[in-house]
Amino acid sequence: MDQQGVFTGFNISYPTYTVVTPQTNRKLEVRCLNVSEVNKLKTSITTAVKIPEIINRVVFDSIKDKPEDLATLKQFKKAITSKDREALLYGIYQATFADTVEKLSVSCKECKASDTHSLVLSNIFNIEPFPSELVETYELSKAVATEDIGEDAELETISRIKKVEEKNKVSKKDSKLNILNRREEIVLPKSNITVVLRSPTLEMEEESITGKFALSKDLLELISEIIVIDSFKIYGENRELVNSVSNRTDILYGYQQLPLSDRQYLLDKYKELFSRYGISLVENWTCKECGEDNETEVDIFTHFFRMAIR
Ligand SMILES: [Zn+2]
Repeated sequence: MDQQGVFTGFNISYPTYTVVTPQTNRKLEVRCLNVSEVNKLKTSITTAVKIPEIINRVVFDSIKDKPEDLATLKQFKKAITSKDREALLYGIYQATFADTVEKLSVSCKECKASDTHSLVLSNIFNIEPFPSELVETYELSKAVATEDIGEDAELETISRIKKVEEKNKVSKKDSKLNILNRREEIVLPKSNITVVLRSPTLEMEEESITGKFALSKDLLELISEIIVIDSFKIYGENRELVNSVSNRTDILYGYQQLPLSDRQYLLDKYKELFSRYGISLVENWTCKECGEDNETEVDIFTHFFRMAIR
């Protein structure tokens, strides 16, 4: 007689990828997604407000041997920033799909001629870690380089390590800083309003859109823009603090009143102070039509979904 036990699933060992989160410097191993997880992502596309929640769950589940302080999804969302998630997604992309992006649409900034490119992601990968211990900052690029074996790849790794070393010397005074506690005050040039910026965690991102199903798409976009704002500060004539605005609805209301150029200034400052710490995938290419040099940024989030819904 056949042995018929209870089927409890396969015992599969999935491909993994080691990632260092660039803003909080955690070394985490992620595994590839399975059929069920890709399917969840596919169906999440139809509900914009559900995307962060589902993607956070999937990323969290993909982390192997979770450290004690990241054991629950709640802890994970508090401790990881949205820029960190980009790096984790990159690792999951590598483990699940491939080291390539196929048929990327590009267009020349000069003559507007369009073209499609196929790229090797690890060749255009770069990471700028938030100042921290040197050893932990370049692991992701190291993992990338060993993946495609070749002398060029080895050299590439060395130059990346050097770059990080130099940068660390300059910013040594910042090395003890935790980006999760970092707040930066900027003064908007046109309106003279003081804004306190922060690097949003996954929890802040989710909270900002919870229960907002009925909102229009452009309002949702504004909400996702203001998650980098911790508060507005209003100072009196003698620089005494008159009011501090940290209620999310008030921040949204205030943000919508800002002059357009102040919005750009705010976004630029956020990039300079926070979001530049992360991974970047930038392809440099020369236009076949006019010879102009171009840079195209590959958004890992977009391509992740593109692959998931194929
Ligand atoms: Zn061109």
